Amino acid sequence: MNPTNPQNNFDLIVVGAGSAGMCCAIRAAQRGLRILAIEKDSIIGGTLHLTAGHMSAGGTKRQAEKGIIDSPENHYNEIMEISENTPDPAVVRLATQLAPHTIDWLQDLGFEFEPATPTIIYGHAPYKIPRTHWGAGDYAGGKIKTAGISILKVLLPLWEECVASGNLTVLLNHKMVSLLKTSNTVIGVEAESEDIQKTFFAKNIVLTTGGYASNPEFFKEVTPDAPRLISSARHTSTGDGIIAARAIGAKFRGGNLHNSTLGGIETEPNSGRTDFWSSWARVSNSVDRKPREIYVNEQSVRFMDENEPNPDVREKAVHQQPARRFWLIFDEKALNDEGGNIIPQWTIERTLEEAQREKAIWKTDSIEELANKTGLDFEVLKQTISTYNQAVDNHVDDAFGRTYLKHKISEAPFYAILTYAYSLISFGGLAVNENLEVVDEQNQPIKNLYAAGEILGAGATSGRAFCGGMLITPALSFGKYLGETL
Ligand SMILES: Cc1cc2nc3c(=O)[nH]c(=O)nc-3n(C[C@H](O)[C@H](O)[C@H](O)COP(=O)(O)OP(=O)(O)OC[C@H]3O[C@@H](n4cnc5c(N)ncnc54)[C@H](O)[C@@H]3O)c2cc1C
Repeated sequence: MNPTNPQNNFDLIVVGAGSAGMCCAIRAAQRGLRILAIEKDSIIGGTLHLTAGHMSAGGTKRQAEKGIIDSPENHYNEIMEISENTPDPAVVRLATQLAPHTIDWLQDLGFEFEPATPTIIYGHAPYKIPRTHWGAGDYAGGKIKTAGISILKVLLPLWEECVASGNLTVLLNHKMVSLLKTSNTVIGVEAESEDIQKTFFAKNIVLTTGGYASNPEFFKEVTPDAPRLISSARHTSTGDGIIAARAIGAKFRGGNLHNSTLGGIETEPNSGRTDFWSSWARVSNSVDRKPREIYVNEQSVRFMDENEPNPDVREKAVHQQPARRFWLIFDEKALNDEGGNIIPQWTIERTLEEAQREKAIWKTDSIEELANKTGLDFEVLKQTISTYNQAVDNHVDDAFGRTYLKHKISEAPFYAILTYAYSLISFGGLAVNENLEVVDEQNQPIKNLYAAGEILGAGATSGRAFCGGMLITPALSFGKYLGETL
């Protein structure tokens, strides 16, 4: 292809039209630049279709309206504290500085906040100040209730305006397969659509292709110590941008910071998939539900206080278990739990149906049968339950100090649910400098190549921990920032 032909030559190419890519393309097109957005999916939006959309920011207008005093500095300091200084400080500094402007921008665009927000969220190690914002709404007639759609709703009209203005060209069903580089400068991308290879050129290229939590082979390569990938990430999160950038010398970092979310149920064994929106058990924190069940590992023994409120402590305990999996063991009384279902999205009827399938949940008339069906050791499991029941009788849990000891596991039928620590996001990503330029192994920028969003890895903004809202907010902010400045 001819680089001087205006039809394939642009001011900016944005690869991936998801959370970061949409903001980038919109802001750049609004400035009058000629933008090409290349998207491998048949729709735009990426993980906005799936994300819980919890956005964290310190110093927003919304916080001020609610009398909450906060600042980017507070936010930065808390991230560094929660993550024990494991993220990239320069990236966190930029993310926290931009975050309130991003939330204010969404607000000015008519973003509808969930009335209670910003608030403190306890699913991850909580911030001390209410700074987690998300969207209100009930979408698609109540069938979808993901706060990511509320973000998409305010971006879509802008996107359409940019397309109508002629500044934004969008190619759906086009998969970027490689980056074109001469000397140390990136000049274009190669994309594939229906087996036809096409080449496009631009002054600058921004990679916003997301993470790799739906690519088991790549996950294994960069996280060799982690067990099999069980994922609830979007199907498009296959690390394409990372793989293409590494092929031209970009530096990858942070695979060792891998962390995962608790309670994933693999309803089809060995599928490697779980569903954040429909099948996870409430083991992430005990703040909103007191556990009636116990957790046992592959040795059929308990390994933690099931009522431990700190998500970090819970995650660490689970991560020490083989295959990062464990079984929730309970009886009939716990199934009919006034404190809420163990699996929030499942009715009791659904739980019983799944128990009949005997793939991830089992229901039996005896502990022995439960052990046989799950593969747990009967004698050890019987002893584990008996010791726990004694702890309930004595009001003292010598083993783990559990203080919520109200319900013995004693009334048949008995149940077991197998849960995994699973991935919504990936922690490794492309190394960038404070300008979000992709750098090589010597930390030198690869000219004209930038990256934003989960392609940077959760480790860059959240380190080894889960710092609430520190993926979607930086994705939106960094995309917007590059669109405004390149
Ligand atoms: C269930 C779930 C809940 C979450 N909840 C939260 C939360 O509450 N708070 C938070 O901070 N984060 C959360 N996250 C993470 C956060 O939503 C994502 O990290 C963020 O949306 C990623 O944005 P992105 O722009 O980097 O990638 P995406 O939004 O995934 O966009 C990437 C786009 O690139 C396209 N693409 C990929 N490869 C190519 C290619 N080769 N060529 C062309 N296009 C390509 C994809 O199709 C996609 O459209 C959650 C994630 C999940 C899955």
